[in-house]
Amino acid sequence: MTSPPALAYAFSRVAYSIHPDDLGSLLPSEPPYRASQLRRWLYVTPVLDPEDMTNLPAAVRREIRLWPFTVVADQVGDGGTTRKWLFEADDGAQYEAVLMGYPRRTTLCISSQAGCALGCTFCATGQFGFERHLDAGEIVAQVAHAQAFLRQIGLPGSPDRLTNIVFMGMGEPLANYNRVREAIRRMIDEMEMSPRSITVSTVGMVPGIRRLSDEGWPVNLAISLHAADDELRSRLVPINRRYPISLLEEAAKEYAAKTGRRVSIEWTVMDGVNDTAEQARLLADIARRIRAHVNLIALNPTPLSTEKAPTKRAMDRFVRILRDLDVNVTVRDTRGRDIDAACGQLRAGRGRPQPVSIG
Ligand code: SAH
Ligand code: SF4
Repeated sequence: MTSPPALAYAFSRVAYSIHPDDLGSLLPSEPPYRASQLRRWLYVTPVLDPEDMTNLPAAVRREIRLWPFTVVADQVGDGGTTRKWLFEADDGAQYEAVLMGYPRRTTLCISSQAGCALGCTFCATGQFGFERHLDAGEIVAQVAHAQAFLRQIGLPGSPDRLTNIVFMGMGEPLANYNRVREAIRRMIDEMEMSPRSITVSTVGMVPGIRRLSDEGWPVNLAISLHAADDELRSRLVPINRRYPISLLEEAAKEYAAKTGRRVSIEWTVMDGVNDTAEQARLLADIARRIRAHVNLIALNPTPLSTEKAPTKRAMDRFVRILRDLDVNVTVRDTRGRDIDAACGQLRAGRGRPQPVSIG
């Protein structure tokens, strides 16, 4: 008989990589209640170091590897209120999470894939291509790691627990549906988080939106629209050729009806591209039809984008047109710009840009 390869064995011993119901397999010579204790440490009161799992015997603590990654960079920005972690898996895949603290909330932005295959022109992740999907353990471990950090170290002036999770890091969550689904299930069922505190951001994978609306979870859905006609949108967001705006609108409406949650529209504002009066009026029509709130974010610079941030005048005019047409609109602040942690800047800091094509 041959023994299993060392790497597979190492992976199988990582606590967050194991389904919570199977944690007993990590502790074969311990009584069953030890698995329940471990489960609580992993999901209810997470800790950064296995040594902190104080009710487990020292021998067990020594055996357990908690994280499916090593933290290869830990950057602090915005005067200590933003924190970006760069994680690396045993196979070398890198992905990032960003923690942002505010007086009454702490928001964690997580990755669902290492890289992204969808190639939106203005997004750093897209410009650097696709490495691989993250598994459910790798996704939920980002949340547990931040929760442990908040409990044990904390961000100055912010709550000591996560109040919001947003899938706005690297990757397209609905292109990695089953693993993202299991990660969300663990957040809700194991970590006791409210589905209302979780936001899935999608560039518009219509089949994924449909599946998510049937899960019975009132999680928030953010649609990254960026353009209000198909010609412009297909140029900025290539997947629009497969799922044009009319289909996306229909899926968004259905999502709101089934979950009772209001959908939001994300719009990265680019100088002279989508900050025109015409786009504002077309966007207002869509937003009113799907009763969506609109979040505007000025483009963050990325290494390969030719698009630029809008002028203040153009941004003000865009907001004014939307408001005059009775659309709820918020201009989002950009956290983490000083540490490349702002939206669309996540690209795991290495590798060369790869061309991407989507059939
Ligand atoms: N793939 C998903 C989630 C990750 S991207 C999606 O596209 O929704 C998270 C958000 O960052 C999206 O709304 C995306 O459009 C936005 N974004 C991407 N590049 C950006 C940039 N350079 N400046 C500002 N926002 C950007
Ligand atoms: Fe992928 Fe979202 Fe970036 Fe588009 S904006 S390339 S879907 S991560």
